[in-house]
Amino acid sequence: MSAVNTLSSNELMEMENQYGAHNYHPIPVVIAKGEGVHVWDVEGKKYYDFLSSYSAVNQGHCHPKIVQTLKDQAENLTLTSRAFYNDVLGVYEKFLTEYFGFDKVLPMNTGAEAVETAIKLCRKWAYEKKGTAENQAKIVVCDNNFHGRTTTIISFSNDPDNSNFGPYTAGFERIPYSDLEALKIALEDDNVAGFLVEPIQGEAGVMVPDAGYLAAAYDLCKSRNVLFIADEVQTGIARTGKLLAVDHEDVRPDILILGKAISGGVYPVSAVLADDHIMEVIKPGQHGSTFGGNPLGAKVAIAALEVVKDENLAENAARLGDLFRDRMNRMIEKTDLVKLVRGKGLLNAIVINDSEDSSTAWDICVQLKDNGLLAKPTHGNIIRFAPPLVMTEEQLHECCDIIERTILSW
Ligand SMILES: *Cc1c(COP(=O)(O)O)cnc(C)c1O
Repeated sequence: MSAVNTLSSNELMEMENQYGAHNYHPIPVVIAKGEGVHVWDVEGKKYYDFLSSYSAVNQGHCHPKIVQTLKDQAENLTLTSRAFYNDVLGVYEKFLTEYFGFDKVLPMNTGAEAVETAIKLCRKWAYEKKGTAENQAKIVVCDNNFHGRTTTIISFSNDPDNSNFGPYTAGFERIPYSDLEALKIALEDDNVAGFLVEPIQGEAGVMVPDAGYLAAAYDLCKSRNVLFIADEVQTGIARTGKLLAVDHEDVRPDILILGKAISGGVYPVSAVLADDHIMEVIKPGQHGSTFGGNPLGAKVAIAALEVVKDENLAENAARLGDLFRDRMNRMIEKTDLVKLVRGKGLLNAIVINDSEDSSTAWDICVQLKDNGLLAKPTHGNIIRFAPPLVMTEEQLHECCDIIERTILSW
């Protein structure tokens, strides 16, 4: 451990509390180092990371190949802006479009920016290709969605935390998740241009839709000339046991939104992928970002995506996910505290029994921390479990032992 930082965990937490806006409520642990599936706090205590920075570090903390790529590129060229060409962007765009099977990519930095990009792209496509009347385009979204924090994105959220930020952006209609009948009715409106959906709702508490929902929703969209827009910022990049969560139902979205683990958590990178007949509506000057597609992020993303294939992370997530849910289901038989476990691959959650106070999930996470495993409650009385995908079977069993010990001694 580096001895450079001589401040204690308590002092560092107090600094964040005093000098930072209070827009987060972290679990009280101060992380100073990460490697693979582990992180260490300032005092040197070791933990399993069971959140993976909201599925951004699927490849594990400080993956040597990704970090080396960052270092090498940082010494050569970091940013040119898009005012000029550079010798990395085209290579990255070719790599990414071939990797995911789309004609083109529009590179951005954060997940929310990529969602904004997809919304703009979908609306412009509606006016210029579908023939929607000016300012009439509508995008259908789902209840309890999470797509980011910008003003437009929170405009179609029903999370009470997003209130008092109005006036909100118009042009969105919300329907229940995993409800094909509701989607069918919403799509009767000719002004609907797109359906924006998370293949699994991560922030909502790892809500897995009914089997067949995504494929049927895609077909409904096709029949109404509506773009199917998949937000795979959290579910993508092998997290659910396939490269993309839509792959479970062999759906190929019209617009694919990626972020988080596309860079292995090393640098902010996001991307919007679509075929030419959609992407071509965006012309020079109509959208962009100073940092979007910069050489540093582009090189990091290539390395991070190579790691996903080289280390078979999707297969590992599928195998360990089955194991994890199996262990949790056996634990649930021995306790009334946990009602169920759900998820796909290594994106899972346990639901704390509803009769318990909703602070129970928080208290359990603090106890898990003391027992050496870091997780965070998500909306309601739910704990999300999403470890890095480089975990071994032995490590997963050790983690399940910690969770079981914590829950069963509650
Ligand atoms: C995290 C997330 C976003 C937003 O990404 P940021 O990088 O935090 O802006 C969007 N959609 C989903 C599904 C996410 O999980």
